[in-house]
Amino acid sequence: MEQQPNEKPTAEQKHGKSKKTLKIIGICLLCVGVACIVAGFVNLIVSTGKGEFPDLFFLLIIGFPTLAFGGMFTIAGFRKEIATYIKNEDVPVFNELGQQVKPGISAIADAVKNSDVPAVCKKCGAQNAADSRFCKKCGEPLVRICPKCGESSGTDSAFCDKCGAKLD
Ligand SMILES: [Zn+2]
Ligand SMILES: [Zn+2]
Repeated sequence: MEQQPNEKPTAEQKHGKSKKTLKIIGICLLCVGVACIVAGFVNLIVSTGKGEFPDLFFLLIIGFPTLAFGGMFTIAGFRKEIATYIKNEDVPVFNELGQQVKPGISAIADAVKNSDVPAVCKKCGAQNAADSRFCKKCGEPLVRICPKCGESSGTDSAFCDKCGAKLD
């Protein structure tokens, strides 16, 4: 029988085929594992109840690794499906989470912004609100207002924080 080159399975088809094999082996192993564990467990309980040694105890011993291997094969076989499922499921969850977290983050950011160190007057030492421009006690300017852009900078600034204009 001559093999046509275009009938050769592509890498993807081969991959898909091995995945299918993995799924079948995995599910078979899972079933065998579960059956072994159930049979071994039932035998264990029944035998223990009768005060006899569970002669099917070995089923429990082989059941667990079989189940574990079956689980591994099944996960490997269904990896793509699982990944797709997780991807599809997680996106809305993350978006929701983001929307719930966002206000919290802005609240924290606002709190940090508002809890600025109070502006202490250099002249009289009075504590003024962080956004004060003049001392409430002596009227000393607490900030220097940029003549160009209106940004307020510290009184010790020689140049505007925002635009770099010279402050006089
Ligand atoms: Zn003052
Ligand atoms: Zn400026």
